[in-house]
Amino acid sequence: MPRTKKVGSTGRFGPRYGSTVRKRVAKIEEKMKQPHRCPQCQTPSVRRVSVGVWQCKKCSYKFAGGAYIPVTMEGKKATRNVKRLKDLM
Ligand SMILES: [Zn+2]
Repeated sequence: MPRTKKVGSTGRFGPRYGSTVRKRVAKIEEKMKQPHRCPQCQTPSVRRVSVGVWQCKKCSYKFAGGAYIPVTMEGKKATRNVKRLKDLM
């Protein structure tokens, strides 16, 4: 996208919704569209399918994660707690 000097992915909104909101979206989408590593085959080809749903383009492994990034701090904590509780049982 050579013609979006600083608006980045929010260029598609044109002048709508206000600059503060567009900047916020740009920041999130930048992270979202970065290459994410697949937890199964380790290739950085994970794309977001829907909110919280991620899929690897290489091995088509589909998994649940954060809304805008595949792994969040909260998600990590939850996984740890589930593991801990499983170990207790
Ligand atoms: Zn994969």
